[in-house]
Amino acid sequence: MDEPVRTRPWTFGAALSVDAIGSVEREYVSRVLDKRRVFRYTRDGIHDSEAAALEDVYRKRLGVRHCLAVNGGTSALVCALVAAGIGPGDEVVIPSYTYIATASAVILAGAVPVIVDIDETLTIDPKALENSITKHTKAVIPVHMRGVPCQMDEISTIAARHGLIVIEDAAQANGGSYHGRPLGSFGHLGCFSFQQYKIVTAGEGGLVATNDDHLFERACVYHDGAFAMWDTGTGGEVETFPGQNYRISEISAAVALAQSQRLDDLLARLRRNKAHIIEALATVDGIELQPIPDPAGDVAYSLILFLPVNADIRAFSERLAWEGIPNGTVYNKGFPDRHIFTNWDYVLAKRGVSPTNNPWTSPYYHGNIDYPPDLCQTSLDLLGRAIQINLHQDMDSTDCADIVTAIRRTARRVSARPSTAPSPGTMP
Ligand SMILES: *Cc1c(COP(=O)(O)O)cnc(C)c1O
Repeated sequence: MDEPVRTRPWTFGAALSVDAIGSVEREYVSRVLDKRRVFRYTRDGIHDSEAAALEDVYRKRLGVRHCLAVNGGTSALVCALVAAGIGPGDEVVIPSYTYIATASAVILAGAVPVIVDIDETLTIDPKALENSITKHTKAVIPVHMRGVPCQMDEISTIAARHGLIVIEDAAQANGGSYHGRPLGSFGHLGCFSFQQYKIVTAGEGGLVATNDDHLFERACVYHDGAFAMWDTGTGGEVETFPGQNYRISEISAAVALAQSQRLDDLLARLRRNKAHIIEALATVDGIELQPIPDPAGDVAYSLILFLPVNADIRAFSERLAWEGIPNGTVYNKGFPDRHIFTNWDYVLAKRGVSPTNNPWTSPYYHGNIDYPPDLCQTSLDLLGRAIQINLHQDMDSTDCADIVTAIRRTARRVSARPSTAPSPGTMP
């Protein structure tokens, strides 16, 4: 009788940053409470807030002129789009594989999302981007999915050639880089999230980064409908216009600050583990590793294997789980995964906030973007062959070795069997 590779329980979850919460977070939050100053823009120290300290950390990390902390990653994206003047009449290109918030932000800004294929990196395919450009295209949002850097050289070249605004969605890739340059610093604007499942968390929170003074000032104005009141010394040059309340709380900023100061240690541990696993998997037949555009810049919390076209991915996933290694496929989440465009119900139905607040039927929109049933089949084929394993900063060399051995044994047993899996496009 076979024994699983691993009989010890696998205790590593997907909320890496939450698992790292400790005494520093507690100290910083206490400091905020002791100060009795939980709101950012008070007269007693407008530039001396937790939020300002958080922005300072990211200005230095990213090497950008400006950062604005906000109350969420979705808020950051909407802020960036509005700051860039994107709205009704415009098309914005996004990948088929990203959290639904990327698409939602485009619609909330009043623009039409154009959904294009990913390639085997599981990030936006630069060729698909270029092929989708029309005279209405204003921007592209490359998404560094699961910490993997997009092909920013190709994307930047295409964007420059067509005069597109680039807004990076780095919500899942805080700390990542591409050819030595931090993710979130390539685009005209970069957006981050501090939600529970991101690399740095505050429960809720986000950040917009940019080198452009004008874009920054517009983002500031939009993130607070009364921004000019606070006398911050920013936003003075732009004409005011109505804004949201996307302000971050001092408590959230303090938690994000504590977490961000430790980010390099987290990255080092994740990268060391993933490098060991990747090296050992090089000799395993019957699987292919997700190609990473710049492995040194990978945030390295996600290990993705592709099975051959006809392999039985469900059998592979179940066997790997039996061996003691939890893993995900598009088939076993148990709910419609909102990271895959086929589950973006209101986008595919072209449903706006209301019948008259709808980018697709806006009188300013003269394009004809559609979401036909055969949209982005390449993406579905790739995701349908992908096995995902979440890595964790607290894994030791035995845990890494267990992953490798379990994959090796599973690949030997299962890979050759034919598939019975339907396309992920037919998920409930
Ligand atoms: C989480 C996430 C967002 C949205 O961030 P929130 O803080 O939840 O609003 C946007 N894009 C991607 C890729 C994400 O993973």
